[in-house]
Amino acid sequence: MILEFIEKVYRVSKALGTKSPATEDVREHLMHKSERLRGEHRIDYETCIGCDSCNKICPVSAITMKQLPFKKQNIVPEVNLGVCIFCGLCEDVCPTKPEKSIVLSGGRYDMITGGWHQDQADFWVNVDVPQSYIDSRLEEEEAARVKKELLAKKKAAEAALKAKEAQSAEKTVPETEEKS
Ligand code: SF4
Ligand code: SF4
Repeated sequence: MILEFIEKVYRVSKALGTKSPATEDVREHLMHKSERLRGEHRIDYETCIGCDSCNKICPVSAITMKQLPFKKQNIVPEVNLGVCIFCGLCEDVCPTKPEKSIVLSGGRYDMITGGWHQDQADFWVNVDVPQSYIDSRLEEEEAARVKKELLAKKKAAEAALKAKEAQSAEKTVPETEEKS
């Protein structure tokens, strides 16, 4: 009885520890990836200049320009893959060089998410600006602002010191002149 139980536990734990090819999640595999693949869009938010050309040329209005809370480079495209027809016009028209900021070679083919969804917006995988990108840009901008403020304070302090020195120099000159 005990031996049977131990054998069962051993078999179950062995089965759980073995990765079966039949149950492998293949969604992360780039099965059809090629240089000219028209798959999910890859957007380089660092190089995108927010010119709006991709949005204007899209024949099915799959692109919306998202306003970001930055001072520079504050408008970037997001793609609704449920509407996109993968014509590639957005990539063709993108003016950035040497690399285009929007390309259709992201390599994903599983554009429909699994599970149950309340509405269609949840059903499709969209190409959205990652929150991590927004956070890092905000951090950069904050660091630049603090640096600028410190520099301005330092300059003001230096200017005040110079003015004080000039004032005391002015006072000492007449005194020496009177003595002579
Ligand atoms: S591939 Fe075509 S349809 Fe899809 S977002 Fe680009 S321009 Fe629009
Ligand atoms: S065309 Fe290129 S640079 Fe212009 S907004 Fe679209 S991705 Fe950015």
